[in-house]
Amino acid sequence: MIGVIGAGQLGRMLALAGYPLGQQCLFLDPASGAPASALAPQIVAPFTDAARLAQLAARTEVLTFDWENVSVESLRALGRGVRIRPPVAALAAAQDRVREKRLFEQLAIPTTRWQAVDSPRSLQRALRGIGLPAVLKTRRLGYDGKGQAVVRTAAEAMQALAGLGGVPLLYEELVPFDFEVSVIAARSTRGEVVVYPLNRNLHAGGILRLTRAPGGGPALQRQAARYVRRLLEHFRYAGVLTLEFFVRRGRLLANEMAPRVHNSGHWTIEGAVTSQFENHLRAILGLPLGAAAAVGHAAMINLLGRMPPRERVLAQAGVHLHDYGKQERPGRKLGHCTIVAATARDRDARVRALLAVVDPELKMR
Ligand code: AMP
Repeated sequence: MIGVIGAGQLGRMLALAGYPLGQQCLFLDPASGAPASALAPQIVAPFTDAARLAQLAARTEVLTFDWENVSVESLRALGRGVRIRPPVAALAAAQDRVREKRLFEQLAIPTTRWQAVDSPRSLQRALRGIGLPAVLKTRRLGYDGKGQAVVRTAAEAMQALAGLGGVPLLYEELVPFDFEVSVIAARSTRGEVVVYPLNRNLHAGGILRLTRAPGGGPALQRQAARYVRRLLEHFRYAGVLTLEFFVRRGRLLANEMAPRVHNSGHWTIEGAVTSQFENHLRAILGLPLGAAAAVGHAAMINLLGRMPPRERVLAQAGVHLHDYGKQERPGRKLGHCTIVAATARDRDARVRALLAVVDPELKMR
């Protein structure tokens, strides 16, 4: 049995991947009826509940997590006898944008220019040192574009400093990127590594809307694989790790990492030899990894806020629908669709047709 902290849609897809392998998950999440609970038992408790975390650890052979804001202190308090994979050190780095940037620099992974900001004075320094336009982001607890502001003038920057609530921030250049990609890789406890083809990601309002894969040429793929391997080896990692980049003039600039399965890898369920979810389980259980090659040209479209009529989605040829069973709420990730085609051209034509049904405002670039 695998203990999963967090029972969202990522946990749900981990549970689904576990069944054919004869593996069951047990979840811990404060929200009763969380998406994964339809598939596997859930302990309803806060992520910081020491007794319930210890219970989860006692009932399972390995602990993993499906989101990033799990308390590092609570995990460390479980003691060395509990197997936690991916390593807690990777989680701690991903939770703090400043630590993450320092890590990228330490491993010679190119990243954006940045400065830590926590006062009007340090903001003035960042304005002088990095200039405008820029993005101010909270150091901790940011996701899906939350806790960040694009600033184009010094006045806007001062306003954002006040608006983001007096918490430590990261000031970063606004990158005029050509497009965005992410790379997903898995490393097993035995040190075996597989790297998936690049995901080409389209965000709107900070939220991922569309991924296409394979999503970059061989030169970009090689660069990304090199960088993600550095992170995997640095942490002696076990599990799936995601690294997101901006692409500018054929070069990668790391934006952030996620020590977990990732939304940009959902296409791997139907579009790769082995899904990211299955490889995550294999990796943390010390089993051989499956091939990460794509079986065609895939696309994934997120379904946000409102579920489209399923009859209209499924009427499109070759579409796979994933409904996470969540209540509708503006901007909330409720599900996704995947398309796998023989050629990139055919895939893109089908993406356009599907977007007309599920996300008519999104312009594919
Ligand atoms: P993040 O939460 O840091 O992944 O940011 C979410 C999205 O906001 C990114 O995927 C980009 O689309 C955009 N974004 C964040 N930081 C920057 C930046 N420094 N320059 C340009 N776009 C950014």
